[in-house]
Amino acid sequence: RGMSSVTIPPPACMLRPLEAPFRYLFGPGPSNVPPRVLAAGGRPIIGHMHSEMFGIMNDIKKGIQYAFQTSNNMTLAMSGSGHTAMECALFNIVEPGESVLVAINGIWGERVAEIAERMGAKVHTLVKTPGGHFTNAEIEQALAKHKPVLFFLTHGESSAGLVHPVDGVGDTCHKYNCLLLVDSVASLGAAPLLMDQQNIDILYTGSQKALNAPPGTAPISFSERACHKMFNRKTKPVSYLLDMTHLSNYWGNDGKPERTYHHTGPVSGFFALRESLAILAETGLENSWKHHTEVAEYFWKGLEDLGLKLFIKDKDLRLPSVTTIAIPEGYNWKELLAYIMKHHRIEFAGGLGPSVGMLLRIGLMGYNCNKANAAMALAALEDALKQCRMSKA
Ligand code: PMP
Repeated sequence: RGMSSVTIPPPACMLRPLEAPFRYLFGPGPSNVPPRVLAAGGRPIIGHMHSEMFGIMNDIKKGIQYAFQTSNNMTLAMSGSGHTAMECALFNIVEPGESVLVAINGIWGERVAEIAERMGAKVHTLVKTPGGHFTNAEIEQALAKHKPVLFFLTHGESSAGLVHPVDGVGDTCHKYNCLLLVDSVASLGAAPLLMDQQNIDILYTGSQKALNAPPGTAPISFSERACHKMFNRKTKPVSYLLDMTHLSNYWGNDGKPERTYHHTGPVSGFFALRESLAILAETGLENSWKHHTEVAEYFWKGLEDLGLKLFIKDKDLRLPSVTTIAIPEGYNWKELLAYIMKHHRIEFAGGLGPSVGMLLRIGLMGYNCNKANAAMALAALEDALKQCRMSKA
């Protein structure tokens, strides 16, 4: 009897209601979710293997093909955040002992290099300080030297606020029999990217940035070339959950007549993702890119009028979704962020990984991307600059 009696009481916190305050999420993500997407996520659950659910997944696939500008059949959404897509790409494409080349100009390259190292790849890196970018000639040199099977590049480097040029990189990779993997978590929908035309082999994004869905799902797509490599490997990928032979069946991409159970997908997350992709389709990609650029330019001008310095000097290399500013002299960045959160209910962020202490990051993406929000962010900064100057004691 003693063995079956409860000894740990219900925790007091669980007897209090959930508290999730309203915040203006003007950091690098997650961003605020429009009511329409929240409502889609709040619909009654259906089974993950019901025909209606497969229909919704087929719609999501079409929505991702539009957002990525790809006709790749091997297009799906991962059950998990952006990191899940990162690991899925590496685990499926690369076999232990193979060589990969990673462009590091902020935290995302660092992460990918670590994931590749953990799975036993031979990792080579091209490194710049945050805000730096790589020329096609530099990339070509490294490809020729290291002969990697995969090259990783971050399109929207959210830790630095840089949008990396992609034109020509895919062709160069293919010249060296290398696949191109691109991270567009922070840029998709905000800055132009054309998967097929730019010869990107594997592209992934996240749900919680410009797409404005809740965190927890991550669109990804693989080219024919990428499929050829990942479905002709000698070893099985280290992860069962992220094995594309199973996931391609779950998403109805493998040509088999039946989908069989692999894992239970995040049903509500898929409802919300479908709705956010529908909004992007209704808006139109080009309108979305143009809108992000216009609001970003308005915001950049306002920052300069406040005497702040933009971290990325070249306008053409600035990520429209996440703006980075140098920490103004005479201020403690943590104090600025805390003041703005406390008095304006606005989230901005500091640096991340190698950019910590170098900059502040302000994201205006998707639903949050409009001049009224940009003006509110500017007013909050102006107030904080007045109130938070460090005394020169
Ligand atoms: N890549 C980039 C460019 C990102 O901005 C992020 C999220 N900040 C990620 C990858 C990782 O995504 P997640 O946090 O959803 O795993």
